[in-house]
Amino acid sequence: MSSENRLFISMYHYIRDLQHSRYPGIKGLDITLFRKQLEFFSENFNVIRMEQVIECVKNGQSLPENSLLLTFDDGYIDHYTYAMPLLEEYGFQGSFFIPGKTFTTHQLLDVNKLHYLLACADINQLVADVKERIDYYRGVEYDYPTSEELWEQYAVANRFDNKETIFVKRVLQTGLPERLRNEIASYLFQKYMDITEEQLAFDLYMTPEQIQTMKRHGMFIGIHGYDHYWLGNLSQTEMKQDIVRSLETMKDYIDQDEWVMNYPYGSYNDDVLRFIQEKGACIGLTTEVRVADIGKDSSLCLPRLDCNDFPPKGDNYLGLLS
Ligand SMILES: [Zn+2]
Repeated sequence: MSSENRLFISMYHYIRDLQHSRYPGIKGLDITLFRKQLEFFSENFNVIRMEQVIECVKNGQSLPENSLLLTFDDGYIDHYTYAMPLLEEYGFQGSFFIPGKTFTTHQLLDVNKLHYLLACADINQLVADVKERIDYYRGVEYDYPTSEELWEQYAVANRFDNKETIFVKRVLQTGLPERLRNEIASYLFQKYMDITEEQLAFDLYMTPEQIQTMKRHGMFIGIHGYDHYWLGNLSQTEMKQDIVRSLETMKDYIDQDEWVMNYPYGSYNDDVLRFIQEKGACIGLTTEVRVADIGKDSSLCLPRLDCNDFPPKGDNYLGLLS
């Protein structure tokens, strides 16, 4: 098998000076480790630009050996403050995927509400609270399985989180009706956090000016939905609405005939793929953990690795080399 079109894609979320941050419990990559990782990449990989990947997909142009693409999800101000200056120091391009809602409203995404809750509250207390709320609302206005049935269904550990954490995440991300999920998450946020949702949103996300600056500095900007929903779980109408909204809010930062999709939570289905292709997407990024092979993999379903799969955090990438 030719290895010339294999592409490692590394995925980042929070990157910050964790020890000196207000919420050191947040699961993020410490800035010193990020620098070490970039140093490792500069010695062992060819960090390429998204434009090269697009050319490769379109024209079959081959990629350098050990090609690596750096992707940053969710539009965090961390990416502007910490990631971009270091990327520039190394001469690397980053690709930044920004949910439309983060910079058009001062609303906190559910995903971040949860991350901060999990960083600040005791996990067993959170599980108890979530179960209590589930039982409190059942039958009044909503109908869904009992908290114990939901526990059976969702409390399954993955390679980063224990089963308690996954239970809280899944139930509040996708397991309950949307309006109820929001209500419970906001209730818990008020109970455990010493900051309002609005203030945290203000502190957490990039502004339009910052996004524009990143673009001017040669960074690549892409689509990550509007509301950061699990697109594969939405009705067709809701899914299309979310994607259309994200394209509208991001129109100043992307090429509307050739844009890159990054599925929130890695969630998509055939309807999503058909629709984004219709709308001009040329590449799609998932959370499947594998090395991409351009030409063999569907360009709308490219797998990625997590930054924890590379030194100094880990060496899972080694097992994926062959
Ligand atoms: Zn995301």
